[in-house]
Amino acid sequence: MEINKIIHNFETRNINVVTLDTKEQLIDFLNKHIADGNSVACGGSMTLKELGVHDYLKGRSINFLDREKEGVDANLMMHEALSSDVYLASANALTENGEIFNIDGNGNRVAAMIYGPKKVILVVGENKFVSNLEEARAHVKSISAPMNGKRLKTNTPCDVTGSCADCRAPRRMCCSEVVINYQRNKERMYIVVMKGTYGY
Ligand code: SF4
Repeated sequence: MEINKIIHNFETRNINVVTLDTKEQLIDFLNKHIADGNSVACGGSMTLKELGVHDYLKGRSINFLDREKEGVDANLMMHEALSSDVYLASANALTENGEIFNIDGNGNRVAAMIYGPKKVILVVGENKFVSNLEEARAHVKSISAPMNGKRLKTNTPCDVTGSCADCRAPRRMCCSEVVINYQRNKERMYIVVMKGTYGY
């Protein structure tokens, strides 16, 4: 499906989509959407790391709720993120029909996407688009979970064998599977599609 049709499908759900080519354009976008003094938090995301978003946020005059900062209480930060002005994350998969699909272990990331932060900005690479929810789930189980399992050393079946076994492992990553279908507030959610491949 062509990108303009996909964007239209998201916008019928009150989810805004912008397409950007470069990291500089992403910084311009974030400068417009994050005001000085805002409280800003991030969900765990390789895409944000690859694009240098954390370093950008550290350089802004904002209250960056950085749960990776040495010495901070990460659990407290995850709670505070739920009432942040701006929440940044990526998404596991986006369907052509305009749905956002995510899995989550702790659930903090999907919770913040659904409710709490005044604005949510999801930064994704073009590689996150899939045809439908079935493909989204398959993508997550066969690519995202094994890759994250390796990175985080979860010792889950997907980490060890590369395949999902619908596990009951203590560090299961897909405790919740969440589909976001619509936003009641049209100003709240933005998807920034970056040209290229980011995250997994
Ligand atoms: S259920 Fe377990 S094995 Fe399957 S993807 Fe999730 S964490 Fe990996």
